Amino acid sequence: MGWNSLDDMDLSGKIVLTRVDINVPVKDGVVTDDTRIQRILPTIRDILSAGGKPVLLAHFGRPKGQVVPEMSLRQVLPALEAALGREVTFVETPSRDALDALPADAVVLVENTRFTAMEEANDPQMAGFLASLGDIYCNDAFSAAHRAHASTEGVAKLLPNCAGRLMQAELSALEAALGNPERPVVAVVGGAKVSTKLDLLGNLVSKVDHLVIGGGMANTFLAAQGIDVGKSLAEHDMTGTALEIMEKAKVAGCEIILPVDVVVAREFKAGAENEVVAADACPADAMILDAGPETVAKVASVLETAKTLIWNGPMGAFEIEPFDAATNAAAKQAAELSKAGKLISVAGGGDTVAALNKAGAAEDFTYISTAGGAFLEWMEGKTLPGVAALG
Ligand code: AMP
Repeated sequence: MGWNSLDDMDLSGKIVLTRVDINVPVKDGVVTDDTRIQRILPTIRDILSAGGKPVLLAHFGRPKGQVVPEMSLRQVLPALEAALGREVTFVETPSRDALDALPADAVVLVENTRFTAMEEANDPQMAGFLASLGDIYCNDAFSAAHRAHASTEGVAKLLPNCAGRLMQAELSALEAALGNPERPVVAVVGGAKVSTKLDLLGNLVSKVDHLVIGGGMANTFLAAQGIDVGKSLAEHDMTGTALEIMEKAKVAGCEIILPVDVVVAREFKAGAENEVVAADACPADAMILDAGPETVAKVASVLETAKTLIWNGPMGAFEIEPFDAATNAAAKQAAELSKAGKLISVAGGGDTVAALNKAGAAEDFTYISTAGGAFLEWMEGKTLPGVAALG
């Protein structure tokens, strides 16, 4: 795979610079959700048990190269200590001597890397300074790996390096889903717009066997085929692009699955009066808010035969019931197949995680990435600088 894991490194007596993502939500100085902290604990614990001294590097918020007290990582310290069950040493301006002077089993958290503009500029001077602080670099922040910053990319090139446990899990799951997947591979892509997912669709049609297009973006594909989608959310200026994607899919041998029936309503609100109509029969004064039961059945039959599923974006306006039905049905089925060992399912991207959680399906997916932007860029087939720098 081209990168090392913690198991490949001799960590004993070493200072291990560990890039993590603890950009957690904070209200009035208190962490309100420590999920991101929980997810880096295995890495910290494994470094400690191998005799290394973890020195955590992280960003917090967008201070834009300035020291902004409200964006100090100091406020994350109590939640980190509580999760880890031990004391963590906070340092504003680290020095090698000071880090060496700490006990061998110390855990250190360094102040917000973005308090200097050198971080986002990937300034070699900052990368060099960071490298001078440690012996080994460990990147456990997949969610920041799409950015080439001093603490995610520059420093990695200057030290022996490895992926942390969370990064390792992300990369293994992504490799299983798109790198060298078991076929047939199905992708479900939904969400509001085609325009935000152009690169993603373009990459997927050359990689997967079936591409289910749902959500608002399916309306654009229906419109591209000359279908009147009434008042539906659709990007009429993107219909040419939609046709190009369909052509590319045809050449690549990828089957595109669009809704054959749809749920329409006159209002975008929960409980709005609705009806199921054929995909080409949306009334002029109505909008498509979900895929219909026949479409759900079609997706179900594709999922039955699939070995791998990759999912981004809801199949309908999932936040407002009952327009979450198609998303829920497909998500539950994918979860059951995964639980039964018949399907490898990987999902990610902001709204996707919320949609799968709402469907009660998230738990049984093989892997759910919480990495947002990095996950999308990876699905787009882009090289992530923070990953490329490892190895
Ligand atoms: P995205 O951020 O691109 O993944 O889009 C997710 C958003 O798309 C969610 O807020 C959904 O409510 C919305 N969405 C999905 N299907 C539709 C639809 N048919 N009409 C309007 N909005 C939709």
